Amino acid sequence: MNEFDLIRRFFRGRTGSGVLLGPGDDAALLLPSAGMQLVMTMDTLLSGRHFPEDLPAADIGWRSLAVNLSDLAAMGATPRWCLLSLSLPTVDESWLEAFCAGFDELARQAGMTLVGGDMVRGPLSITVQASGEVPAGKALLRSGARPGDRICVGGVPGEAAAGLQCWQAGQRDGALVQAFSRPQPQLDLGCRLRGLASSCIDISDGLLADLGHILEDSGGLGADIRLAQLPRSLALNEWGDDSQRQRVQLAGGDDYLLLFTVPPVFNLPAQWREIGRVEARRGIRVLDAAGNPLASLPGGWDHFAGDSDDA
Ligand code: ADP
Ligand code: MG
Repeated sequence: MNEFDLIRRFFRGRTGSGVLLGPGDDAALLLPSAGMQLVMTMDTLLSGRHFPEDLPAADIGWRSLAVNLSDLAAMGATPRWCLLSLSLPTVDESWLEAFCAGFDELARQAGMTLVGGDMVRGPLSITVQASGEVPAGKALLRSGARPGDRICVGGVPGEAAAGLQCWQAGQRDGALVQAFSRPQPQLDLGCRLRGLASSCIDISDGLLADLGHILEDSGGLGADIRLAQLPRSLALNEWGDDSQRQRVQLAGGDDYLLLFTVPPVFNLPAQWREIGRVEARRGIRVLDAAGNPLASLPGGWDHFAGDSDDA
């Protein structure tokens, strides 16, 4: 099979809502919805850098779409269309079949349609360009946080980073490994946050690092985070020791959970976990159960992983 056969076998004949012309012609032809703004994002995943080289192809397919969907979720957008650029070292039909199974499973779940892409021979690398829509003026930005806003997280931070360490230690299943290999983009939460959240970001580099982006982009604010209020799961409680758990929760990457701020005038639904407050005083302080600030904080995941210079 050559490149054209592969494209014909795996990518032709796809269609979905708003798709006037999908893969097969020189470019796709799409019909955006009236009154909506177009939201676009793109992420590249390099083998050995953004995922372990021995991660199954189906998980790589899922992940390469998930990280892009998570960016759309963080904007409050609804997924519509995506493009897929594949750099593959060899023509391997069974690898591509598994990759597409993982990719398509999440695409179906999220209402995302693959409308085109590219394929080249080279080191294993996957780029997805994803588009979504948001009602005009309703996109969630990083820049709207204000002092007094509550800081919330959409799930249990740190599971994915713990899961990656489990994978590297040879473990191949369980809730933590799953959190790394099959992140669930929080699309419904992103839509619900429209008109409620004052700012939003998805956690890809670690909670403190990504909170730092919100505070910087909101004009140079600070935050108090309460360690005791960080959500924990059974799986995470059974992993590592206290200091390892604290490290992955504050600085582990790859969670793809939403981190957002909500003005005090709104009531928080019970499932939105408040972990701290935005403060006018610059800097992030992490307070222990007694209310005392931790003396030292872990950096972003690139620092603590030590073996990567992730971008
Ligand atoms: P061109 O020579 O114009 O770049 P290609 O042979 O690369 O055309 O692609 C032919 C068609 O197949 C295009 O519509 C393109 O979008 C689609 N296509 C190529 N690779 C992929 C892919 N990985 N996923 C989805 N569609 C693809
Ligand atoms: Mg091409």
